[in-house]
Amino acid sequence: MLPVGDLVLLDPLTEESLLQTLQERFRRSNIYTYIGNVVISVNPYRSLPIYTPETVQEYRNCNFFAVKPHIYAIADDAYRSLRDRDRDQCILITGESGAGKTEASKLVMSYVAAVCSKGEEVDKVKEQLLQSNPVLEAFGNAKTIRNDNSSRFGKYMDVEFDFKGEPLGGVISNYLLEKSRIVRHVKGERNFHIFYQLLAGGSAQLLQQLKLRQDCRHYGYLNRESSGLPGMDDAANFRAMQVIGFSPAEVTALLEVTAVVLKLGNVQLSSSYQASGMEASSIAEPQELQEICELIGLDPAVLERALCSRTVKARNEMVLTTLSVPQPGKQRKVMGVLDIYGFEIFQDNGFEQFIINYCNEKLQQIFILMTLKEEQEEYVREGIQWTPVEFFDNSIICNLIENSKCGILAMLDEECLRPGVVNEDTFLTKLNQLFATHKHYESKETQNARRVMDATLPSQCFRIHHYAGKVTYNVTGFIEKNNDLLFRDLSQAMWASRHELLRSLFPEGDPQKVSLKLPPTAGFQFKASVATLMKNLYSKNPNYIRCIKPNETKTGMLFTPELVLAQIRYLGLMENVRVRRAGYAFRQLYDSFLQRYKMLSPRTWPHWTGSHREGTKVLLEDLAFPPEELAFGHTKIFIRSPRTLFDLERRRQER
Ligand code: ADP
Ligand code: MG
Repeated sequence: MLPVGDLVLLDPLTEESLLQTLQERFRRSNIYTYIGNVVISVNPYRSLPIYTPETVQEYRNCNFFAVKPHIYAIADDAYRSLRDRDRDQCILITGESGAGKTEASKLVMSYVAAVCSKGEEVDKVKEQLLQSNPVLEAFGNAKTIRNDNSSRFGKYMDVEFDFKGEPLGGVISNYLLEKSRIVRHVKGERNFHIFYQLLAGGSAQLLQQLKLRQDCRHYGYLNRESSGLPGMDDAANFRAMQVIGFSPAEVTALLEVTAVVLKLGNVQLSSSYQASGMEASSIAEPQELQEICELIGLDPAVLERALCSRTVKARNEMVLTTLSVPQPGKQRKVMGVLDIYGFEIFQDNGFEQFIINYCNEKLQQIFILMTLKEEQEEYVREGIQWTPVEFFDNSIICNLIENSKCGILAMLDEECLRPGVVNEDTFLTKLNQLFATHKHYESKETQNARRVMDATLPSQCFRIHHYAGKVTYNVTGFIEKNNDLLFRDLSQAMWASRHELLRSLFPEGDPQKVSLKLPPTAGFQFKASVATLMKNLYSKNPNYIRCIKPNETKTGMLFTPELVLAQIRYLGLMENVRVRRAGYAFRQLYDSFLQRYKMLSPRTWPHWTGSHREGTKVLLEDLAFPPEELAFGHTKIFIRSPRTLFDLERRRQER
């Protein structure tokens, strides 16, 4: 017999039985499993024949509980709920790198595109939404040790629909692109795909126009190793990328900027000490500099001055891309899809991991809030009997990081803004004082005070006990990365070019707009965009896809139990099942429930004149469901098992 498709039905419920169920299903190529309406997806690392147009038809308007667990079922449920019940939806996809998040987001988008109606206008929007992927991936994805096509940014895509459920357009927000990858990446990894794609796929004429050489090894940013990648056709991907609706002039401008970035990597500064004892630098490759300036219409002397007087760094920003202007209309509905980097625990963890893990901590919080807390609170509100389920509330960790007065980010900002010499030592000392007794904070100093012997924690590090595990962060680089300063002379040089796209990227370079205020720090900006994101998600009906990586070697159909178990723990799946089990699978306001099912009883059809609650009672009495299946709240009807709901739907369809 096939192991249960919904872990809510697991008996007995233990970590082992949960793990075994996932493993057994995986062995039979059933990579999807539910916990109520949460989908767990285990990456098969090989293509399965389960995404065909026939499968789409099978799940179209399906009853969620009547067909095999599938990501299409959740996509269908979300889409229908948006179209028919007028509820904005968000789809939260989480999991560690390589677990299948980006693939899942693409599957959801392509499903929705396949089932919503057709028409010239609509098709154009759909095509743009789907085709934005190759472009985003070219510029934002790279090969890492964990994933050959790893997204190095978080992506949130809001797709807007009109009242008929047809897509109107979309807005994509990117979070925290890993810019440092441009200048450095570890052995065995690659820079962003676009550079290799451009060199491998650009015609001789294009490369000449961009003043590029075809050989990757010529470029300092690319010549580490592993430039070509088995299974990835950079040239073909480059051609695919160009299909999206940019004008030829826009594409050229974009590629010019790309070429400039690559060429800047070859511009070496050589420094010398002058008689005065001051350090001076000059450009070692005047030819490269000359070509860059020809591409962007800038006087080489201006660029040389800007480069030699300061260091170059790019700026941390949230990018908004409007794919098409949404038409004004009163009944717009939104489906948001969030594909964001999972929790990261590396050998060396720096500012980037700190920020990424903070984001995951917030996502876990919203998951807890929405699934667990809300669930319980709703029962209390509705006056329904409820046995409390214990769960771990991670708000204490979120607070440790983001508290605006004394959180770690606030302390870092304070250090960055303090006049005089600032360094990471004083930052760490301050943290140690503030969090000397905090349960989720540790450092060499607090360990000594607590008389903990631990050789694994170096002195320039602090450790946070995240919900997903303990992570040790090295504070080196925190201040510089948080400041993320782009020196004004450089942005002014860029603004002085005759390249329109480039100028638009450096609006602060406009000498008219000189501001003495320091720009917000990277941490501050990220915290603000996370807060906006959370607010946005919170206003929508959440749908969860929790992705699991079954092995570390990207091997097809290989399931490593220990690895999966760790993910089961930090995804909080056991808690999720417990709450679902203790509660009711389905609930709905009495009036909409009655509206939908009143035809099933002669006493409520066609008109019921009493209260909606009474009407619902009468209706369900007539259908003779076992009383333990139902609970009547103050405003909503609660149904315990999916089967009862399924039964209702079936009877409705038979009418
Ligand atoms: P993440 O975004 O979580 O880092 P990806 O979505 O990029 O991970 O998936 C990594 C790789 O795993 C993909 O490139 C693909 O080869 C494989 N993969 C992921 N999901 C599936 C799936 N549903 N079916 C087949 N292969 C998959
Ligand atoms: Mg990804």
